[in-house]
Amino acid sequence: MSAHSSPQKWTEFLKSSYKDEIANLAEEYPDVRSLSISFFDIEQFDPELADELLNLPDEVLRDSNQALLDIGDTKGVDFSKAYLRVRDLASHVQIRSIRSHHIGKMIAVEGLIRKATEVRPKITRAVFHCPYEHETVVMQGEKFVEPYECNDANCSRKKGPFALSREKSTFLDAQKIRIQESPEGLRGGEQPQTLDVLVVDDLAGITAPGDRIIITGVLRSYQRVNYNTKTTFFDIVLDGLSIDVEDKEFEDIVLASEDIEMIKTLAADTGIYEKIIRSIAPSIYGYSEVKEAISLQLMSGVSKKLPDGSRIRGDIHMLLIGDPGIAKSQLLRYTVKIAPRGIYTSGKSSTSAGLTAAAVKDEFGDGRWTLEAGALVLADKGIAGVDEMDKMKPDDRASLHEAMEQQTISIAKAGIMATLQSRCSLLGAANPKYGRFDQYDNIAKQINMPPTLLSRFDLIFILTDKPTIERDTQISNHILKAHYAGELSMQQEHIPNSGITSKQIEHAMKVIQPEIEPELMRKYIAYAKRNIYPLMSDDAREKIINFYLGLRKQGEDPNSPVPVTARQLEALVRLAESSARIRLSNEVNVDDIERVIRIVTTSLEQVMMDPETGMLDADIISVGTSKSQRDKIHILRDIIKELQHAHDGVAPYEDVIVHAEEQGINREKVEDVLSKLKNSGEIYEPKNGYVKISQ
Ligand code: ADP
Ligand code: MG
Repeated sequence: MSAHSSPQKWTEFLKSSYKDEIANLAEEYPDVRSLSISFFDIEQFDPELADELLNLPDEVLRDSNQALLDIGDTKGVDFSKAYLRVRDLASHVQIRSIRSHHIGKMIAVEGLIRKATEVRPKITRAVFHCPYEHETVVMQGEKFVEPYECNDANCSRKKGPFALSREKSTFLDAQKIRIQESPEGLRGGEQPQTLDVLVVDDLAGITAPGDRIIITGVLRSYQRVNYNTKTTFFDIVLDGLSIDVEDKEFEDIVLASEDIEMIKTLAADTGIYEKIIRSIAPSIYGYSEVKEAISLQLMSGVSKKLPDGSRIRGDIHMLLIGDPGIAKSQLLRYTVKIAPRGIYTSGKSSTSAGLTAAAVKDEFGDGRWTLEAGALVLADKGIAGVDEMDKMKPDDRASLHEAMEQQTISIAKAGIMATLQSRCSLLGAANPKYGRFDQYDNIAKQINMPPTLLSRFDLIFILTDKPTIERDTQISNHILKAHYAGELSMQQEHIPNSGITSKQIEHAMKVIQPEIEPELMRKYIAYAKRNIYPLMSDDAREKIINFYLGLRKQGEDPNSPVPVTARQLEALVRLAESSARIRLSNEVNVDDIERVIRIVTTSLEQVMMDPETGMLDADIISVGTSKSQRDKIHILRDIIKELQHAHDGVAPYEDVIVHAEEQGINREKVEDVLSKLKNSGEIYEPKNGYVKISQ
């Protein structure tokens, strides 16, 4: 029993602390139906009342609602549809720590919305008519309950059948939400646990999958039913009382003044760039360019809101394509681990939501549509590591364009129309089309991803596994040292009197020790992203433009491919801003530009170089064929057309080859291009040994 709470007490509290808010509510009611109450204020007013509210929420809330009705009466407003929304509880319960003693209590839980059903009416007060038209009212809970007998004292029949009166019954909007633990709270690789939440009326439909929320509510339990038999296991669901959407980035990372001191000292070090590189996946040997690029990706460029309402992304997308077994997955996992909000997933991931989002009909929604967030939505404001990207589902492929460039994901299916946010950086890894790179063939041809998607990456690195004695020796030394350090520490732990000292282990571990501990690194990134918003200096701007124009210049020659598009210019800007953030500098200087030019050139040369001419060609990425190849296609089409003319509408295959050779295209190339044209349907084989251009 509640000993302390009473409607009078609540009236006193509300009148003393929420006078203005109640006056506002009376004015806006019933459009606005919620009165937001801070738990702090209740504690200030009467700590015992606050305590009772947590322990006996149902009884205490009955008093507070009565108080609200009474106050309404004095104002001449009927507050019967108004709610007290209690928020700001002093402590939050972790989803994985919820236990049976929380049942029936008021708790606050933090989490990330993984799925949400569409908003649909739910009956709360059902009015029934007996055959003699008498009314019987039944309040409804989780399951629909019909009257046992007619409640009217004058009813001579008492029995049913009862008819539900839709007009007289009360319905509320309702929505079911599933929240999961935020990725930053999980220790490496743990699967997040979930909690289902029920929200009604004005709380329904105000959040979307991917939102980070603090939800306060009363924990309820429902008995599980198996094949119509009640079991002794109970399921839990939180009855939502208030929702707060967390909007700030990295709210969860607390920076003490000592941390900031340390971060500033690190940033002032001229060797900071190398230090950060050495702190990314130290157990992986080499790849310093890739690691440097990853460190820029972790900091991101500046996202900009323009006055016209549009937004320019600051997040940097990066793709690693490479031979198997060269530590791509390891690099991804490590990066996601040090990023303040990182999610690791595989392109062939099994969840129905996949990489972006999906509308599904499953048991969670009891037959209603449910919107479920995929990895890129869950990684909002963080970084998504997507492994095996070449194996992703076709649906994902289609929605990834929007997710990467606009950083939103639109879903319009059945009753669900939603736009989810995916403001994250994407670090992808993929294998080449045929498993391994053929170094003599065009790189672009070996990437199993549509060019439109590739062009949305700011940086693409090609990692090939060419055996060379020198590098192989270094890698194997490094791997063996890492294993040796592990062996030492395992032996010390498991074999008594092994004689291995901690000093020995420490010494052995040195090769794989990150220079900056992951914990500090995460704080560094959060600090830089929160506080540093650099401007481009005039010198830097000039340098970036010159570099860009220089690359574009190749396009002026009519015979030369267009090397770079404006997308790459934007990538340069983002990377340069990020480079300034590493120094905690609010100005992008010439050094930043030089660093970025070096990285971008490496990436461009690997990917966009046309192996036939040695020139950069952006069309390899954005269209899928290089200019030299397009020229050949052109020539071949002309030849086929002419031959068709001379040979009753069909061109003899061998003649095409002979004519092409006369124009300097060798047989092998011709066959290659012809088979390509055939695959794409541009030409076909009307009969053996002949080709024809499709109409
Ligand atoms: P991928 O995803 O590219 O197929 P993995 O990330 O699964 O490759 O790596 C395979 C294994 O080889 C891992 O255990 C990794 O640590 C090791 N490895 C590969 N290259 C290196 C390297 N350069 N330095 C250290 N270990 C490496
Ligand atoms: Mg892998």
